[in-house]
Amino acid sequence: MAYVDLHLHTTASDGVMSPSEIVRYAKARGLRAIAITDHDTIEGLEEGLSEGEKIGFEVIPGIEISAEHSPGSMHLLGFFIDIHHPLLNEKLDYLQKARAQRNPRIVEKLNQLGIDLTYQDVLKASGGGQVGRPHFAQVLLEKNYVRTFQEAFDRFLKKGAPAYVDKFRFEPKEAIHFINEAKGIAVLAHPNTLDMDGYSELEGLVIRLVEEGLKGIEVYYPEHSALEVAQYKALAERYGLVITGGTDYHGIEKNGLDIGVGRGEMKLPYCLVEELKAARDRALRGER
Ligand code: AMP
Ligand code: ZN
Ligand code: FE
Ligand code: FE
Repeated sequence: MAYVDLHLHTTASDGVMSPSEIVRYAKARGLRAIAITDHDTIEGLEEGLSEGEKIGFEVIPGIEISAEHSPGSMHLLGFFIDIHHPLLNEKLDYLQKARAQRNPRIVEKLNQLGIDLTYQDVLKASGGGQVGRPHFAQVLLEKNYVRTFQEAFDRFLKKGAPAYVDKFRFEPKEAIHFINEAKGIAVLAHPNTLDMDGYSELEGLVIRLVEEGLKGIEVYYPEHSALEVAQYKALAERYGLVITGGTDYHGIEKNGLDIGVGRGEMKLPYCLVEELKAARDRALRGER
């Protein structure tokens, strides 16, 4: 049996492997298909898709959009998006501009805290892709201001920490809309980060998101407990959502985590991809 991993990051956002590297790595690890789901960008998809074609490996074009939500955080995955779709590109350009304004402000805050770091350092750490907080963490680590990647977040970068700068996020409804417009399948990522107060509150949110066009839920994820997996599966069945799963592999920061297997607990069968394709075909025919 060959497995799949439907949540992966590359150097186009804050992952460590380039899109072609991750495709080759997935094939070498014996996977059957992957989705590349970088944060707020599709810049890695052309490369990833063409590497897949070259070596005969199935790559699903995806994205992970951060949406407005409290108290926790909401990420929406989009699978099978049309990377040339004008509305999608317009929305992503907007997010890039927002990040371009945010990043220098994080540098300023760190400098005010006495940290000797320039935007150039951070750009270098990003390897030319989109700049995010993990790249700041990497520089803080390299410059020995912190001992671990996690310490950089805890002391400086996480929400509420002294160098935190909020970023612009679309409302869930808007993100779902442009994913759907771009022929994508919108999926609620790792629902445990929503910090909902119990099952019924989560259910209420899912009902609203389904009305707004949500088509799936990421049930399998390394940080989900067995109880959470069971709850998310129940929601999927109840509201006719496709089930997806993935490791959210970035490369460095999540110790012991590997593509396809997570921390050893993940074995996601190819039928997840078939269900996703069936959902895509239904959507293309204008059905729910
Ligand atoms: P950004 O998109 O620039 O806000 O960065 C978000 C990324 O930073 C996430 O995808 C995670 O990889 C990482 N991240 C966010 N919060 C934390 C945290 N508290 N600890 C470790 N990593 C985090
Ligand atoms: Zn990330
Ligand atoms: Fe996420
Ligand atoms: Fe992710």
